[in-house]
Amino acid sequence: MLSDESAAMMALLVLFTAVQCILAALMLALRRSAAGRAWVVGLALACAAGLLVANGRGAPAWLLLVAPALGLAAQLLIHRGIVLTGGSHAAAPGAGAAGAAAMLAVLGAAALGEGSRPAEAAGYAAAVAAAFTLAWLLPRPQAPGPRARPLVLAACALQLLAQCCGLYAVWGVSGAVAARHAEALLLLRLLPSFVAILAGLAAFTLMTMDAMLAAQERRARLDALTGLLNRGAIDSAARVLAAEYARHGHPMSCLVIDIDRFKRINDSGGHRAGDLVLRQIAAVVERTHRATDLAGRYGGEEFCVLCPHTGEADAVLLANRILHGIRAIALPPEMGGFASASIGIAEIRDGAGGGAAAWDRLFGSADRALYEAKRRGRGRVVSASSLEVRAPAPRPAPRVPARAEACH
Ligand code: GH3
Ligand code: MG
Ligand code: MG
Repeated sequence: MLSDESAAMMALLVLFTAVQCILAALMLALRRSAAGRAWVVGLALACAAGLLVANGRGAPAWLLLVAPALGLAAQLLIHRGIVLTGGSHAAAPGAGAAGAAAMLAVLGAAALGEGSRPAEAAGYAAAVAAAFTLAWLLPRPQAPGPRARPLVLAACALQLLAQCCGLYAVWGVSGAVAARHAEALLLLRLLPSFVAILAGLAAFTLMTMDAMLAAQERRARLDALTGLLNRGAIDSAARVLAAEYARHGHPMSCLVIDIDRFKRINDSGGHRAGDLVLRQIAAVVERTHRATDLAGRYGGEEFCVLCPHTGEADAVLLANRILHGIRAIALPPEMGGFASASIGIAEIRDGAGGGAAAWDRLFGSADRALYEAKRRGRGRVVSASSLEVRAPAPRPAPRVPARAEACH
């Protein structure tokens, strides 16, 4: 029959091993992500440390040193995973730094002498590392993501608790804590350590899913060639802005830009050369518009810029700046000369029919202005308002001569 303590140890062994298997599978799936590698290896090392402690009854002294050193390396790698998941590279120790710190912990502990005290000195370093991660997280309310944050905080706090349990047990052997209790405390710290690993695993899985979803959403809104917004993203933003115009009367203008004679660039320089010109023009559009404007690639060689809170006169200024930038782009040597584009501009005037209908009308007006710019010889800006057929002013009624009146 197994004693209660042995049964608990067996259970922990099984659980730690099961988590190691899950981590191995995660490692395979996430080997391309730096944050993923740091997290998974960190959690795997923490598990390995737990397995060593659970198995370490009567083990040689060096084993007692290795477990907390592994714990320290694990905590540093987990810290790196958390920092990298937040998109920051600051203060993120790499695998080399984690290994070096663990080695230093072992050497430092060995220098302190025999027995469990040196091991606990290494454990002390692991506790400091967990406190360091907590201190990094607390002033950053967004890190490492809204859903994972409570789990990560709990994991770090539990890891700290586990290490403190161990330290208290060792320090107290000669004083307040009886030796028997001290041993129980040492084993008991495996429990918070294990829960911390599980919480870390859940947090990391959540963060990875969130990051993947966010990346997918970003990719779905961007044009792959130019990095500008794609047509779908521009359409949905424009519908929202048109609805805002209908509700609050905020003005909004739209530029439709079409590269002149683009087919010739493709024909003379090849598709790759055409793609390069497209990217260069996209870069001009991107760096010329205001931060609040939205720029996208609307079709093959057509771009669209939405300018919220902007009237037509200001949009014309922007269009001329874009045209100026485009004219500075040298075309492939086979063709020579510089790029050129035609730009149509319109300002929203009628929000009736909801955002979609108002946007259709606005885009249609800008497109007609663009067509007119092409017709007038390309390389110019035309605004929709300049095309409006002005209703002829009512002519004054012909004055009937008094004499004529008198005649009839
Ligand atoms: P215009 O001045 O009247 O606008 O003449 P154009 O040659 O620019 O217009 P047209 O519509 O005849 O040709 C557009 C060309 O754009 C045809 C198409 O092969 C090319 N195109 C569309 N998308 C891409 C792309 O992603 N890459 C490249 N390289 N070419 C593209
Ligand atoms: Mg075109
Ligand atoms: Mg064109």
